[in-house]
Amino acid sequence: MKDFLVFENLSKSYANIKAVKNISLSINKGEIFSLLGPSGCGKTTLLRLCAGFEIPDTGRIILNGTDITALPPEKRKVNTVFQSYALFPHMTIRDNIAFGPKIAGKSKKEIEHEVDEMLDLIQMHDEADRKPSQISGGQKQRVAIARALINKPQVLLLDEPLAALDLKLRQRMLIELDQIHDEVGITFVFVTHDQTEAMSLSDRIAVMDKGHIEQVGTPVEIYESPVSSFTAAFIGDTNFLDGQVTQTFDDNRAEINVPGIGTIICYNDRKLKEGDPVHVSIRPEKIHMSKTEPEENRKLNILSGTVENMVYTGTSTKYWVRSGEWLFTLQKLHMRYLLDETPAKWDDHVWISWHADDCYMLEKYREADEQLLTLPDIEEAVPGSASPSSNNKDISSKESAPAKEKR
Ligand code: ATP
Repeated sequence: MKDFLVFENLSKSYANIKAVKNISLSINKGEIFSLLGPSGCGKTTLLRLCAGFEIPDTGRIILNGTDITALPPEKRKVNTVFQSYALFPHMTIRDNIAFGPKIAGKSKKEIEHEVDEMLDLIQMHDEADRKPSQISGGQKQRVAIARALINKPQVLLLDEPLAALDLKLRQRMLIELDQIHDEVGITFVFVTHDQTEAMSLSDRIAVMDKGHIEQVGTPVEIYESPVSSFTAAFIGDTNFLDGQVTQTFDDNRAEINVPGIGTIICYNDRKLKEGDPVHVSIRPEKIHMSKTEPEENRKLNILSGTVENMVYTGTSTKYWVRSGEWLFTLQKLHMRYLLDETPAKWDDHVWISWHADDCYMLEKYREADEQLLTLPDIEEAVPGSASPSSNNKDISSKESAPAKEKR
């Protein structure tokens, strides 16, 4: 069902900080929807508005056709799982889970039955009589989810629920969350700043920046077709080139002049015109590197360059290749059958190439919001507010200086 949970023109300010700016969003029934963005972009505020812990300055929240904007939290069919779990330390796991139905005045028999159902769901019957201090972080998280789900909410809000767990446990919990979601089938709204979590769990993602939504889409849409430089830079790594459209063709492609490189061919689904300034985004894994020059092809961009840096990451090696004034980041998987030749080394002369349809033209990076930037805490909190380092023509947008491999 479409339009199950709808945010209409929601805004929320704290003193002079505009945490949420006129956000409109529609979430479908039963989907896992993630709010993803850098620290301070307003995702928790949006979640708190939905839960009823905050009242919006403007706008409405509609749940299943009912306006819930003015309802207190306990009257909304919405429950929240907090990052800190917020379990009652003096109560057993069973009593923690039973808390909601007890407050609702249900009978002892009903409560026992519902708690057993929840213990089945999270597979924690054996630990039911322990206290929270006697179970692991992942188990606490499962109890927190059970304690929320026992209230039979229409929407489960999850505020960075995996942030306190180590990497392996986070990966396991992602699978468990997905399984729990499959079993209960209700709408999950998941807040995270971790793109991997959002990409692997969500049906759709809203990428947020500075209180507004940059893009809503499936993980594939967000990664493969970012609509803005911010999204391209925030989701995964990307290379940015600055240029200007010099010619457009009928087949949705355009020629771009990039100072210091010359002309490249790029996908032009936005119908940008001759003379338009553009940012071109190319993902590192879309760039091929070889020691021999690739065969000319109208749809292939081919540049020569020098390996300036490389980092072995286990599954792949990251290379930084300088071509003219530009430094490209690219990634080569360690798959023996893909290794057409000996791997490139430091200072090697190489050819890099990518297909015209693997690069996207984006509008120039949006200027930072002045009002937000007057507040020092926000400047620190919003790494996305830094423009990609296109001025010095080092185009690896999110990379700090790569660690140097020993020559
Ligand atoms: P994080 O990932 O760090 O939790 P976030 O994207 O969830 O960040 P919010 O917590 O929604 O961001 O905060 C958005 C902005 O509003 C931030 O600048 C934050 O400092 C500010 N803010 C949030 N809550 C309050 C509050 N109660 N009083 C004042 N400012 C607040």
